[in-house]
Amino acid sequence: MEEKEKFDINNLVRENVKGLQPYSSARDEFKETSSGYMVFLDANENPFENGINRYPDPQQHSLKAILAERRSVKVENLLLGNGSDEVLDLIFRAFCEPGIDNIITLPPTYGMYKVLSGINAIENREVLLSPDFGLNVSEILEAVDVNSKIIFICSPNNPTGNSFDENAILEILVKFNGLVVIDEAYIDFSQRESWLKRRVEFPNLIVIQTLSKAYGMAGIRLGICCASPEIISILNKIKPPYNVNELTQQRAREQVLKEGLLQTEVTEILNQKRALFKALNEVDYVLEIHPSDANFILIRVDDANKRYQQLLKKGIVVRNRSSQPLCDNTLRLTVGTSKENVRLINTLKEIN
Ligand SMILES: *Cc1c(COP(=O)(O)O)cnc(C)c1O
Repeated sequence: MEEKEKFDINNLVRENVKGLQPYSSARDEFKETSSGYMVFLDANENPFENGINRYPDPQQHSLKAILAERRSVKVENLLLGNGSDEVLDLIFRAFCEPGIDNIITLPPTYGMYKVLSGINAIENREVLLSPDFGLNVSEILEAVDVNSKIIFICSPNNPTGNSFDENAILEILVKFNGLVVIDEAYIDFSQRESWLKRRVEFPNLIVIQTLSKAYGMAGIRLGICCASPEIISILNKIKPPYNVNELTQQRAREQVLKEGLLQTEVTEILNQKRALFKALNEVDYVLEIHPSDANFILIRVDDANKRYQQLLKKGIVVRNRSSQPLCDNTLRLTVGTSKENVRLINTLKEIN
């Protein structure tokens, strides 16, 4: 690779996005709908109060303040989305020119990067992980050309479960002059530190987290994007104004503020994961149990399609990942409650 130039986010933004002004909504101009003094006749809302008759805060100030405090980042480092899937889509649309730019993904990994590259007409350059699911750093850097805008790194990785080597990620962050998106959907289960701690060192780093996994709120759809204020303000230009609805903002605030809940549930899930590992060892057609730094376990079995169907007949739904590269005959098992895991293990032994 050539000598790295100084990173300048303006070299990566799409031309049409550079000139955009964010849509200014009624609720951007005047926020305090709850003060008794003001009368709000600016947004064509129904005036009869029912808790949700007003448009939600487009910048989610109170929720962001809580999340920023929990993560030791500033509010200006945060953008929230309708799940991380929306955040990922915003990143594509802000930085990748359809038909011209490309991204780099590292299969086997989360399927949405590829789906979004297809939707946005962006070439997806795939660089496989090594057979032990590590990063092939030199191959990744070789795949880069002048139109490579983003490298997506999912760590802990879905579906393999492992976290990637810190120095390997570091080398990519340092040598690649585009954006590095680290998807930390499973970070709350991980033994590793979040890359958020080192965000200020890397102007090209975007960290994505979610309330869908450890926080137990997949149903409300809330994704978190953490990056430099420059990147955040670019994403804000194209964000739909009311992308995070009022009920989501309310429930997220309540749930995140519950003292100790996250830790208690994560600890229990990790205990259950250990128990599951032990029990899986005793199932003779389970040929490999991949190490997991997340809340799921990828196992290799004798015949994944057969075992998948057998489990389904017994009312247990797991994920067959066999179609993914390097994942022949694998099943991905989410760690459930103690009761659910006992049923899984008993069934696995029964169908032997
Ligand atoms: C589950 C998951 C997400 C979560 O997406 P949401 O849209 O926030 O629910 C993101 N990335 C990965 C790798 C995941 O496995």
